[in-house]
Amino acid sequence: IELRDKKAQERRLKNAGFPVIKKIEDFDLDFQRSITKKQINRLLEMEWIDRMYNLIFLGPPGVGKTHLSISLGYKAVEQGYKVSFVTMDNLMHVLKTQEISRKSKGKMNRILSSSLVIIDELGYLPITREEANLFFQLISALHEQASIIITSNKGLEDWTELLGDLALTTAVLDRITYRCELFSMSGKSYRLEHRKSLF
Ligand code: ADP
Ligand code: MG
Repeated sequence: IELRDKKAQERRLKNAGFPVIKKIEDFDLDFQRSITKKQINRLLEMEWIDRMYNLIFLGPPGVGKTHLSISLGYKAVEQGYKVSFVTMDNLMHVLKTQEISRKSKGKMNRILSSSLVIIDELGYLPITREEANLFFQLISALHEQASIIITSNKGLEDWTELLGDLALTTAVLDRITYRCELFSMSGKSYRLEHRKSLF
């Protein structure tokens, strides 16, 4: 039974599609003060996933949005949840090619059957009208079926410009924020502060 569970966990981890593994234990809360130890511990209980709450991490580059998302997703996988990680860019590709690509169809099916879907980097690349519509349809499909984590470098007030349509943005935000915790992360870029140098 132990071996079978281990295999299932390995499969869940592989299917989650994390670009790298980040651990919550490695997240320095003294550096990022917008989130507290208490909040992290609460999130690690995973009750928010059972209750299908969403998380939004907003903030400039390097403040730890992706690190937090992956590490929460990793813990969720460890606890038996099905998790899917996609960048917004990758998600758009998958949404647009799901009818013609088996790989995209597979990814889409995994996303739709996940308990937690992590959408990373909303706002870095421009989105067409068609893509915004597909995004809305996905959010509607996931709404109250799964938890969603969205990370973005843009404030919610800028999402209309991003998605190109006020009514659609309102509908997206209405669904996502219905049960949601929003973290506005500020501070310096961890990358810049801990810049690695070759010489
Ligand atoms: P963002 O997604 O907000 O642009 P990342 O989560 O990708 O930022 O963080 C950039 C890099 O800095 C990553 O390697 C990440 O592991 C690291 N990092 C960011 N914030 C912290 C932190 N508070 N403690 C430890 N490492 C961090
Ligand atoms: Mg990031």
